[in-house]
Amino acid sequence: MKFCSECGGQIILAVPADDTRERFVCSQCATIHYVNPKVVAGCLPLWQDRVLLCKRAIEPRKGFWTLPAGYLENGETMEAGAHRETWEEAAAKVENSNLYTVFSLPHISQVYIFYKADVVDGVFGVGTESLDSGLFAEHEIPWDELAFPVVTDTLKHYFKDRKNDTYPVREGVISFKRRLKKRD
Ligand SMILES: [Zn+2]
Repeated sequence: MKFCSECGGQIILAVPADDTRERFVCSQCATIHYVNPKVVAGCLPLWQDRVLLCKRAIEPRKGFWTLPAGYLENGETMEAGAHRETWEEAAAKVENSNLYTVFSLPHISQVYIFYKADVVDGVFGVGTESLDSGLFAEHEIPWDELAFPVVTDTLKHYFKDRKNDTYPVREGVISFKRRLKKRD
């Protein structure tokens, strides 16, 4: 952030009075521009015993498989955002959605949340942000080609919880230490 959105003045990093952290502060009008974590909402879309995954058409992690998810829009509920992303990335409508996994990613200041949901009539397609999409049974999941640790962990929770047919909300922290496999 370089210039103030209020007055166009130059932004400096400074610790405001009564604060303990550096903030973006306007050197001209003193407006403090707070920057806080972003929320990414998505779905674990299910049809019968299979999971709907999308192959990413955009960076980061282009060509890797993911669950449909994306940044929440202003004025949007988490559930509506998760449904919208599922429509945009997998051309699938979902129903019976329930909050399932929540992850803190403090190293990149993001929070990820996934809803477990049923794909309406099993109908899906390939959205504009995807190269491909498909329904995968547990033994067909491309574990080495998943885009993000939140996707891997959500799928692992699901296949474990499915054995008992109970799906409590699962919370996790993704540390920066986890390595992602590079594409050959
Ligand atoms: Zn200003």
